[in-house]
Amino acid sequence: MDRIRSKASFSTEDSVDSSTAFVFVESQQKGHQLAHHKKKATFLLSSLRHFAIECAEEGLPVVYLSTKGSFTTPLTRWLSQSPSRRLTCMEISDWDERMLFQELSESFADQVSIEPNTLFIADVETWRSKIAPGFRMETFYREMRRQSGLLMDHEGHPEGGTWNYDAENRKKIPKGLEIPASGRIEPDQVTQEVMEMIEQWFPDGLGDTNSFSYAVTRDQAIALAHEFIRERLPTFGPYEDAMALDEPVLFHSRLSLYMNNGLLDPIELCELAQQAYQEGHAPIESVEGFIRQILGWREYIRIYYEAMMPEIREANHFGFTRGLPEAYVTGEHPCKCISESLKPVIEDAWSHHIPRLMILSSFSNLTQTDPRELNTWFWLAYADAHEWVELPNVLGMSTFADGGVLASKPYVSGGAYINKMSNYCAGCSYNVKEKTGPNACPFNYLYWNFVDQQRETFSRNGRVNFMVNSFDKKSEDEKADIRKSAQTFIDAQPRLASGWETSTPAS
Ligand SMILES: Cc1cc2nc3c(=O)[nH]c(=O)nc-3n(C[C@H](O)[C@H](O)[C@H](O)COP(=O)(O)OP(=O)(O)OC[C@H]3O[C@@H](n4cnc5c(N)ncnc54)[C@H](O)[C@@H]3O)c2cc1C
Ligand code: SF4
Repeated sequence: MDRIRSKASFSTEDSVDSSTAFVFVESQQKGHQLAHHKKKATFLLSSLRHFAIECAEEGLPVVYLSTKGSFTTPLTRWLSQSPSRRLTCMEISDWDERMLFQELSESFADQVSIEPNTLFIADVETWRSKIAPGFRMETFYREMRRQSGLLMDHEGHPEGGTWNYDAENRKKIPKGLEIPASGRIEPDQVTQEVMEMIEQWFPDGLGDTNSFSYAVTRDQAIALAHEFIRERLPTFGPYEDAMALDEPVLFHSRLSLYMNNGLLDPIELCELAQQAYQEGHAPIESVEGFIRQILGWREYIRIYYEAMMPEIREANHFGFTRGLPEAYVTGEHPCKCISESLKPVIEDAWSHHIPRLMILSSFSNLTQTDPRELNTWFWLAYADAHEWVELPNVLGMSTFADGGVLASKPYVSGGAYINKMSNYCAGCSYNVKEKTGPNACPFNYLYWNFVDQQRETFSRNGRVNFMVNSFDKKSEDEKADIRKSAQTFIDAQPRLASGWETSTPAS
């Protein structure tokens, strides 16, 4: 706070005399409701402080408010102090804060106004009513391509002749492929102050603040975006689904954090990627893959959230009730794929899409974990997690908890998929080739046990109903071994008790 306080143009809520000012609120409340990763809390608060400082340096009047409670408490005080004060806020993406702000705007109807959210590309009202089982992202994505003109030729056809190059984007990392280091931003004085403060405020938060290296200003985020376009985008596509020991980032952008907190604009990233294609720097399969993630998935996910909230919070299609495996907070697990997937989350509050989907979520479902517990973990553990984006990904896409509104099939797999897409299995204490018994890869029997137990869901789904037939063709002995191995493994998982997710307020 020292740097913040030292700015002459910073005002406390009592002293500001201008009726127009940039108002920033630093609230501890969310950090106590959920034990958010300390690097996530550092990232969000340091970005906020840097933006406030930049505004002040531009000569704009800035009011910086700090509270242990909800962000509306100091705003209520600030608005009450003078009826001439006006507050304009962009519509908030996350539900609870939006509701709180709406209450505030109702209490101060003449003073508060809400402007449309500008962090997204698609218009919610055009699409909201279409979200229903069977309306898939691909339909939405093609329309977004047409509307935006991104990767479209002059005759209105998709660039390269094909809408989607996903089928070419599933390669394993070959031995000897050079993987560029991903950019680090050294923490400046403001960030270091925030790191110390977060350790004090949220001692029970996941992970620690050591080696914090995320961007906290727009200039830094832009530099990371250019570095991605230059060094990793050309190879992004083919290895998008791959995983490799000690290489958590591979060719991914790690730019989600900055789009989600407003440091980067999603459309500017799509345009940068398109330009790389037009200049011959990156091939179509990489550029289309990257643009699809942003223009397609990110936008679709946000519309799903708008259409499904708040009831979707309780979704639990399979009715699982077990607590979250302890490994998700300790990072330790005998399955190499799980400990490797957790390592970058515990260390850096981030991992790429496939560990999130095909390892951590798949394992949660296969071990009959309550998807809402997993949802809470994803929310607090990842630096890019805000409810509008993590909830649809967890309860819609990765656990099928919504019963198939978002995803066309449950994303679960046996060990063969993990072995195909990574080099984890060679260093694992389990044997990926064995199907049942104490040395067998747990994903193998857990997968078949899941197909057997959830046969109703699988049978109704044309994409996966053949799996039930495959299970039924197994011998009775093999079926019994699968069920026994799975039950023993599931019962033996140490689980977190309720209340694990909250952090104790520092005294
Ligand atoms: C279980 C689960 C939880 C997830 N939780 C989050 C979350 O809390 N916040 C978040 O931003 N993303 C989330 N995702 C989506 C995706 O995994 C991340 O956006 C991506 O891994 C971020 O890394 P990146 O920036 O390197 O992405 P890249 O692989 O470089 O992709 C580029 C961009 O596309 C966007 N994107 C890609 N897939 C998705 C998607 N499914 N939903 C939304 N945006 C997408 C992101 O903005 C990302 O930055 C989740 C996915 C799963 C399966
Ligand atoms: S053998 Fe099974 S548990 Fe071990 S890393 Fe491979 S998939 Fe994971």
